[in-house]
Amino acid sequence: MSFATCLLCRECGTTYPTEALYSCEVCFGPLGVAYDLESARGVVTHESIADGPNSIWRYGALLPDPGERPVDLGAGWTPLRRATRLAEVLGVDELWLKDDTRNPTGSFKDRVVSVALSSARRLGFTTAACASTGNLATSVAAHAAFIGWPSVTIIPADLEKSKIAMAAIFGGTVLGVEGSYDDVNRLCVELVAEHPDWAFANINLRAYYAEGSKTLAFEIAEQLGWRTPDQVVVPVASGSQLTKIAKGFGEFIELGLVEGRAPVLFGAQATGCSPVATAFAAGADFITPQRPNTIARSLAIGNPADGPYVLDELRRNGGDCGSVPDDEILECIGLLAQTEGVFAETAGGVTIASLRQMLRRGTINPRKSIVAIISGHGLKTLDAVVDTAVVTSTIKPSLEEAEAALRSHQLVAAS
Ligand SMILES: [Zn+2]
Repeated sequence: MSFATCLLCRECGTTYPTEALYSCEVCFGPLGVAYDLESARGVVTHESIADGPNSIWRYGALLPDPGERPVDLGAGWTPLRRATRLAEVLGVDELWLKDDTRNPTGSFKDRVVSVALSSARRLGFTTAACASTGNLATSVAAHAAFIGWPSVTIIPADLEKSKIAMAAIFGGTVLGVEGSYDDVNRLCVELVAEHPDWAFANINLRAYYAEGSKTLAFEIAEQLGWRTPDQVVVPVASGSQLTKIAKGFGEFIELGLVEGRAPVLFGAQATGCSPVATAFAAGADFITPQRPNTIARSLAIGNPADGPYVLDELRRNGGDCGSVPDDEILECIGLLAQTEGVFAETAGGVTIASLRQMLRRGTINPRKSIVAIISGHGLKTLDAVVDTAVVTSTIKPSLEEAEAALRSHQLVAAS
């Protein structure tokens, strides 16, 4: 059973029943989901969690009520891998990768979509929709196909071809908008008003959707043997993931399920779309929107909905926010692949490059434990690397040419 009790305005604290609401009727602030943690204490235990499925739904007691049963395509329970070779290159003692490339559609978005569509089905919606930079569209289309719902996913028309294909293959309607993600989002807000019976995962279902990201924190803590890491590096697009990771660690601490304190959270952005990093560096508590221009398309949100909340979280325990150029993003996709055998999409390159940058400026402590969130699979952004990740040599099918090529790459000694 779920211990969710109500929707709560994140600005003024007004409460509402857990229905199809997404903004406060008093102040128009965004809504979150509140839980009766008092009653959950002692009921939600290590054992009760371990008895659950190997998906995010092992934490169902701390997620919104999914109704009769969750829409569970198998999101979550992804590996937390010790990254010793990358740690050595970066000069840190304890580095872990939360490998969310291993979700059903290859990104962490499966966590939030599973929760959003479960709530949508409970609330009587029958069509799944979203505004997306690519990964969310894929996940919404896949989960909708899984439960036999139509889907309408809306993306910028110039996204990576591989991401468009991944969204379209599930058979829903994919609208490509000639404009940026922020244009897509504005359009979708208008569509919600016209089609109140459509469940836009990240708009009118946003309060429920966002809760799915808490499971990253829950899994990290459980997989570390019920303890919190010291530091977590999180890619920042809308900023929802980072704020909910903070909420997840907070709930586990409040329930007495983990040892340790809340980790220090660090953001990661591409310089070509770095509204949060820019505001953080300037000491501002508001976000100045930017026009994105980066290969990290999944993070290219120029006006992030959760931006101010991310700034609060980063400042709470002495965090920081990286801002890395595209060439370093590509370099770090390679670094991660070549040291750990993990192929990440551009957002993963942003995370690793930001981690390196914040180590260099001394805001991340190399002697304390670090978890880096790798949020999506490299196959999603092949376009970004196909020109640089190429064959080493092209040769005729002859032993002589093969040996000559291997000599030129120092794989065999010159004779
Ligand atoms: Zn309010």
